[in-house]
Amino acid sequence: MKHFGYMHPADQLVTFMQRIYQRGLTTTSGGNLSVLDDNGDVWITPSGIDKGSLTRRDIMRVLPDGKTEGIHTPSVELPFHKKIYEKRPDIKAIIHAHSPALIAFSLVRRVPDTRFTPDIHFTCGKVGMAAYAVPGSRELGDNIAEKFGEGCDMVLLENHGVVVGSVDLSHAYAMFEALEFAARTEIEAGKLSRPVELTKEQLDMAKWEQADLSAAPQKTISSEERDARRNICAFTHRAYDQFLFTCTQGTFSQRLTDGAFLTAPPSADRKYMEEADILHIGKSPAESGGSQNYFIKFIQAVYQKHPDIQSVVIARSPNIMAFAITHNELETKTIPESYLQLRNIRKIPFEAIVKHPEETAEIFCSKVPIALVENNCILVTGDSLMNAYDRLEVAEYSARAILSAKTLGNLVPINDQQVHDIEVAFHMK
Ligand SMILES: [Zn+2]
Repeated sequence: MKHFGYMHPADQLVTFMQRIYQRGLTTTSGGNLSVLDDNGDVWITPSGIDKGSLTRRDIMRVLPDGKTEGIHTPSVELPFHKKIYEKRPDIKAIIHAHSPALIAFSLVRRVPDTRFTPDIHFTCGKVGMAAYAVPGSRELGDNIAEKFGEGCDMVLLENHGVVVGSVDLSHAYAMFEALEFAARTEIEAGKLSRPVELTKEQLDMAKWEQADLSAAPQKTISSEERDARRNICAFTHRAYDQFLFTCTQGTFSQRLTDGAFLTAPPSADRKYMEEADILHIGKSPAESGGSQNYFIKFIQAVYQKHPDIQSVVIARSPNIMAFAITHNELETKTIPESYLQLRNIRKIPFEAIVKHPEETAEIFCSKVPIALVENNCILVTGDSLMNAYDRLEVAEYSARAILSAKTLGNLVPINDQQVHDIEVAFHMK
């Protein structure tokens, strides 16, 4: 895990500006970030400098008396950054960006709905919309600060973009990525049918997803486990880079030969996951650590009931989630390769995993290696970490292909005879 708290504000700003740009969340000229130092200085990205090649020397320092230090001029949006810090003393870092999905919402002057999945709902909090004004103007600053004053931590700007404020840049970034993800998922789901919101009861039910998670104490670490920890980190970074995971979503687990298993902690930043962050969960329920965490109970039950399953992935990839938040099934009989990897995907109700994690583990078999949980996630099993990763990737690409096909014409799945021929040719019966 990376500890940004020890990093100089200029280095933090460079790190997150690069991350936002590389993630496709802003353009070279658009967006600006700032950090409020304990002494009242505001460190902010410069105006008109290429965001793709920013260095610490480019970052500007604005002292409380208004004097600036640095080789450029501060971002033209400095006025609204200052206004937000004045209005909300709890906010110490601000991200402003023009990310594609959030721009789409700002153009139709709508706030993305965060009630489609619990993790997004709890990460995003209250989201507002500020009235349009000229960039850099005092009026824009007033409009944005007003919304932050009402308790919003994220504010969309009409015909412009988004502003996120939080206790530090790392947390602000996690919120920003979550809201962009929510927007993207809502856009994709709209190609299928009207997405379904979670009720307040369902959201309350899922509150414990992040709670009470600690690993069993370990005296020794076997080489098998060291190997598995390394592989989980490598696949987690890969899944993040491939947009299968977001910074706070997506979990790999791996069974160990002694009956224990390894899994990723719920809230760690997926981009910076390290071997030491991985949780070791003992084989008996008393050792499970996460007594409230339904995903831990679920993974444990899968390994107990299915000796052939070695790995489980829990993910919320944007194209797959379009099918999870609507009443549409995710078709696997698209191309032979998809059917070979995915076989059949069972769609199960939201409550299944939250209330009955052990029973949910029973639905898996060689013909059903994957389940799609309504308004929650996709559960993918595999005979290895690689196999589970591959299935997740194939599922996400299939989902994307189906969504694209929707705009072209009627999807023609491969028929029963063709499926039968695939099963014979690849000895799947
Ligand atoms: Zn802007």
